[in-house]
Amino acid sequence: MPGVEQEAWATSGNGHRKPTVPAGVGVLPREPGAPGGEVPPFVVDVSAAQRAVADLLVALGADASSEGLRETPRRVASAYAEFLTPEPFDLASFPNEDGYDELIVARDIPVRSLCQHHLLPFTGLAHVGYLPDQRILGLSKLARVVELFARRLQIQERLTCQVADWLDDHVQPEGIGVIVEADHCCMTLRGVRARGSTTITSALRGAVRDDPSTRQEFFALAGLGRGT
Ligand code: ZN
Repeated sequence: MPGVEQEAWATSGNGHRKPTVPAGVGVLPREPGAPGGEVPPFVVDVSAAQRAVADLLVALGADASSEGLRETPRRVASAYAEFLTPEPFDLASFPNEDGYDELIVARDIPVRSLCQHHLLPFTGLAHVGYLPDQRILGLSKLARVVELFARRLQIQERLTCQVADWLDDHVQPEGIGVIVEADHCCMTLRGVRARGSTTITSALRGAVRDDPSTRQEFFALAGLGRGT
């Protein structure tokens, strides 16, 4: 039903900028003179995590020294380190020499993140688009930006806005649209909501927020505009 979908998008697509640079960003090469600042890298203390997992096993009533659990603290700590460490990569943008002025959209980007409230995964898809101005970014980089912000303790709303803010700061396009649809294990495993229910968040900026035809085109290209 179109009206309902529009409502859902409008709830998080208010276009309000976060006042602070997101924590945990450590691999962002910045354009000279670009807004924002560098933030120290997110560092996982694997040995401390390993000790904590061993303690957690005991607290959960498990025999941490049993054959099957002996390696669990090491495995869990290294799994969390992986979840929380983005691959280093070059995110430099480059000049829009051909003056491309249509929407650029990467859809169905995998999202794998950890809910900061329960330390349980949420997984789904992101659709990221922008209307370029002076600079553009390789399409594969859009997926990298999503991964950069997904690999940390997160909430879906913040992830969505951080991807939009990053594009705003680094590419400074005419408009930005980010939609994330994800299933949260903390909901689906705990029976709070029916299995398979999906949470949709969006962050729309500039022309994608303000210009109805650009907005509509973004939703259509993202595969979510059917019936609107
Ligand atoms: Zn949760």
